[in-house]
Amino acid sequence: MHIERFAPSPTGLLHLGHGFSALTAFDAARQAGGRFLLRIEDIDQPRCKPEFEQAIYDDLHWLGIDWETPVMRQSDRMPTYQAALQRLTDMGLTYPCRCTRKDIKAALSAPQEGAEPHLGPDGVIYPGTCRHRHHTPETTGHAIRLHMKHAMDQIGDISCLFYTETGKGKVTLDPDFLLNACGDIVLARKDIGTSYHLAVVVDDAAQQITHVTRGADMAPATPIHRLLQALFGLPTPHYRHHRLIRDENGRRLAKRHDSLALRAYRASGSTPHDIRQMLNLD
Ligand code: GLU
Repeated sequence: MHIERFAPSPTGLLHLGHGFSALTAFDAARQAGGRFLLRIEDIDQPRCKPEFEQAIYDDLHWLGIDWETPVMRQSDRMPTYQAALQRLTDMGLTYPCRCTRKDIKAALSAPQEGAEPHLGPDGVIYPGTCRHRHHTPETTGHAIRLHMKHAMDQIGDISCLFYTETGKGKVTLDPDFLLNACGDIVLARKDIGTSYHLAVVVDDAAQQITHVTRGADMAPATPIHRLLQALFGLPTPHYRHHRLIRDENGRRLAKRHDSLALRAYRASGSTPHDIRQMLNLD
């Protein structure tokens, strides 16, 4: 059974790029006689708004998309993410981190003044300041990071493979690649107790997603997701990273591009068919 999902965060209005992801996933599920699920990724509660969640439902319905109910909402699943995090901690793969952004910047600029910090999917690669620390009652409430080196030791020599449509095909995730390209990623943010990476991996497995369709901007995060699947013993979906929809200046669309919001097209008289045509999906 082919199972696709669309997993928006209700932090703004859906734009043309979201429409492209959702329609591509929905069409693929329909063509395969499979299932299409919607997941509301609302772990970052202060940034999420009920009106944006309602707008997601309205805009998707307007595009002619329907989905199974009840819709999974990440804010309902905090205990599940906590349990997953505890598993990694019990495996000796996590440590508490009290660094602020400023601390990280300072640690990175100290040894090699002026050198470009190395960027990963979540920003600069963490320099490892807190790597020696252990969980104690005093560290409760700190951010929690994955000890990437220990994680890779745990997986052993087995290379992980994943597939991308915009990439070259198979990518081997060896320890050097993950240490350099991702580093000790945050598994639980101090303020929200989980992270996008942890939640998305746990949820894709819980929803038995077989195909993940999302923008090429998410491709750098896929090795992390593949690694977490290997650590948890979860299956890996087929990843399809589609081209990004850009504005007239070639810039990637962001939620703040209100003029390219789906509802702005709708308000100016466009039909769902026009949207499909614009996206070459007709
Ligand atoms: N929630 C993410 C977003 O809105 C998408 C996550 C994903 O598709 O894996 O950008």
